[in-house]
Amino acid sequence: VNEFELIARFFAREPVRRADVTLGIGDDCALLAPRAGVELAVTTDLLVAGVHFFADVDPAALGHKALAVNLSDLAAMGAEPTWFTLNLALPAGDVAWLEKFSAGLFALARRYDIALVGGDTVRGPLAVGIQACGYVPPGQALRRRGAAAGDRVFVTGELGDAGLALQQRRGQLSLPAADAATVGMRLDWPAPRVAAGVRLRGIASAAIDLSDGLAADLGHILEASGVGAVVARERVPLSAVYRRHLARVGWDLALANGDDYELCFTVPAGRLAQLEAVRAELDCPVTEIGEVVGGRGLRIEDADGREHRLAHTGHDHFA
Ligand code: ADP
Ligand code: MG
Repeated sequence: VNEFELIARFFAREPVRRADVTLGIGDDCALLAPRAGVELAVTTDLLVAGVHFFADVDPAALGHKALAVNLSDLAAMGAEPTWFTLNLALPAGDVAWLEKFSAGLFALARRYDIALVGGDTVRGPLAVGIQACGYVPPGQALRRRGAAAGDRVFVTGELGDAGLALQQRRGQLSLPAADAATVGMRLDWPAPRVAAGVRLRGIASAAIDLSDGLAADLGHILEASGVGAVVARERVPLSAVYRRHLARVGWDLALANGDDYELCFTVPAGRLAQLEAVRAELDCPVTEIGEVVGGRGLRIEDADGREHRLAHTGHDHFA
């Protein structure tokens, strides 16, 4: 397929129709008509073969994940997804690959009513860059700054499965086949916490999504807010699979490994009742893991109140 056939066949058949798209794919720019009186949240993430995913990954999973990581950033700000653009560098015009990639991408796009409105397609080493936008009521976005001493620290979902899967695939850990498959799904098909992010507006004092690991990402909230926190290690939610292997793998994959795409957020004591009231409407479990304190830095405590020291604190491309 040539470039224009490829775009028409795989990306211009946009299944999501939105009233706020005046002109989608096909011209030099898309034309968007934002709802009156909103702020636009804008985010982008670039996934590169060999750095963020294995080149032989299931293309449907890659399509899903490339959009999911951007939806996760929108969720972390409490934004309602609206539009995205897609930049693709492809080593070849592989029709079977593109069929699966676009199916994985559009299945998630449909679920969150986010419209693909443009992009760029070039030949090159496999890479996928998405930019996504969403609406937030003015002044209501959840930021990293805003946590205060006395706030409680929460996370959605369960942490560490993506780290288990990564170790398994790198040959650093051997898991039974069924467990490897379960955690592999968490690595390849992360569920962005979009509904939770929107419901947390007006409740959370600060929020972030967990792409680089709890210690590093909660650390960003603490730094931006000028506070510290104490997290109770034993309260950090683990999956049944992780619990089965906890004695062997330890806590660090749950505390300091990225790729879980859960949300971490803080809630002032005076708003805990509001959180309880919306808990049932969230599409995921929410667990209190600690408390914001004065001072600086994150202290993780084990069951005896001793500090849990991490071997490393999170992913850093340039470390
Ligand atoms: P230009 O040369 O003006 O930048 P292109 O020829 O690259 O335009 O793209 C033609 C149209 O197809 C544009 O509307 C562009 O946004 C869209 N497009 C190109 N690649 C993609 C893609 N991977 N996904 C979605 N839309 C794309
Ligand atoms: Mg042009």
